[in-house]
Amino acid sequence: MKRFIADCRRFESDSDCQLTIIGPEEDVVAAAAQHAAASHGHEDTPELREQLRSLLEPESAYVAGERAPEPFPA
Ligand SMILES: [Zn+2]
Repeated sequence: MKRFIADCRRFESDSDCQLTIIGPEEDVVAAAAQHAAASHGHEDTPELREQLRSLLEPESAYVAGERAPEPFPA
């Protein structure tokens, strides 16, 4: 099974969040949506989940440690 990354280090956030979620696509999208709602003030909507899905990276792109953040796409 392919695994994917949702990486809070990738984007600028007020809390400088360092969470990285790795797993099967559906699990990562669900966990990332719940995390975005619980910790980043987003609403867990189908639109948010689609956006998160579009931002997933393949597991092979994982880099340990620090990562230079980029602005979250509007
Ligand atoms: Zn986060």
